[in-house]
Amino acid sequence: MTGPDPRVRDLALALPSAELPAYIYDLTALAAHAAAVRAALPPQVDLYYAAKANPEPRILAALAPHTDGFEVSSGGELAHVVAAVPEHPLAFGGPGKTPAEIAAALERGVGRFHVESVHELRTLAHLAAHRGGGQDRPARVLLRFNLTVPRGLLAAGALAMGGRPSPFGLDPREADTAMRMLTDGSCPQLEFTGVHAHLASGLGAPELAAVAEAVTDWAAALAHRHGVTLHEVNVGGGMHVDYADPAARFDWAGYGAVLARVARARPGLRLRVEPGRALTAYCGWYATDVLDVKRSHGEEFAVVRGGTHHLRTPAARGHDQPCTVLPVAGWPHPWLRPAGGPGPVTLAGQLCTPKDVLARAVPAAGLRAGDRVVFAMAGAYAWNISHHDFLMHPHPSVHMVGGPGRPEPHAAPATGGA
Ligand SMILES: *Cc1c(COP(=O)(O)O)cnc(C)c1O
Repeated sequence: MTGPDPRVRDLALALPSAELPAYIYDLTALAAHAAAVRAALPPQVDLYYAAKANPEPRILAALAPHTDGFEVSSGGELAHVVAAVPEHPLAFGGPGKTPAEIAAALERGVGRFHVESVHELRTLAHLAAHRGGGQDRPARVLLRFNLTVPRGLLAAGALAMGGRPSPFGLDPREADTAMRMLTDGSCPQLEFTGVHAHLASGLGAPELAAVAEAVTDWAAALAHRHGVTLHEVNVGGGMHVDYADPAARFDWAGYGAVLARVARARPGLRLRVEPGRALTAYCGWYATDVLDVKRSHGEEFAVVRGGTHHLRTPAARGHDQPCTVLPVAGWPHPWLRPAGGPGPVTLAGQLCTPKDVLARAVPAAGLRAGDRVVFAMAGAYAWNISHHDFLMHPHPSVHMVGGPGRPEPHAAPATGGA
């Protein structure tokens, strides 16, 4: 297993225990990773970042130079992302957009709307027709469809979001109704731009590329049937992240090669991907210290400061969060320092629920109270999906290492995880 970068490790050891737990984001590694992803994709493919994976402003700023835009899925994300990185192109997706959110998005000139239902299309058409200004260009619409994921592509562990009953996107049976609304002249303030489909989560490159190809073929046939140009196809995110192997990466080059072939077959068509997890998972670390070590019915447990109310990812996904133990020599207390035996340890948090487990079977022989533990892959769906205030423990401090124009390790003041 690859441990933390030395700058992350040094900071995790240097922080006073009053600042633990701590989220540490490696902005240098993030920028390098995003640049590599961008470089692996062909020029006909836009790279958007799904902000819901981690909307921390400094992460958005680090990603902006290497991405073509951000995907936001609520009015809150929209306002937040615009404030954090003004001028970066946006696509507004997500089910249940309220009229107020749609109006705000129109007001801000959001580049693309991913429309999730016929009702939403009507709402958008009305609000676009009645917005102030008058001279604005039509709002670009990508219809989001709940298409069937081709059989055999869903590996074990992948989460199918399409092809079965769901609140996401339009049923393919409504495709012609929605297309007629966009092409019969009744909604001049809307422009059919293309199709959006985010159908699965956790697929490897060959499977996800096959899904992208199938979605593009379907979208092209739809546009052809209605006699309009298909400008864009957004094939979504969902690139596999392997929490059991922090060094593994999605095969962006292999994926990009298939997308290049798909795009070349349809000159003028732009493809778009909008990963979240696979961009930011690797840049985040959750550092803490061991509070207690004990045996219970033959098994060793260590209770760490913090837990799944800060890092919900292992509880939400049912995995063991990869981690590295950083032994600490000193023990500041006059009472005996608890220490574990030679066997594996379960790392649990401070919550009064048996679900508060960060990692099982960790090979940490002799783990002691006061040792530090750094959990890897805590950069996506981690802090921002956690139930921060359950049990009213303090929020973690947040620190950045590296980053654009800041080559030196830099510890920002604690911000309560904002
Ligand atoms: C969540 C989401 C994404 C990002 O998914 P990841 O699995 O994080 O890559 C992209 N598009 C849509 C519509 C989403 O809901």
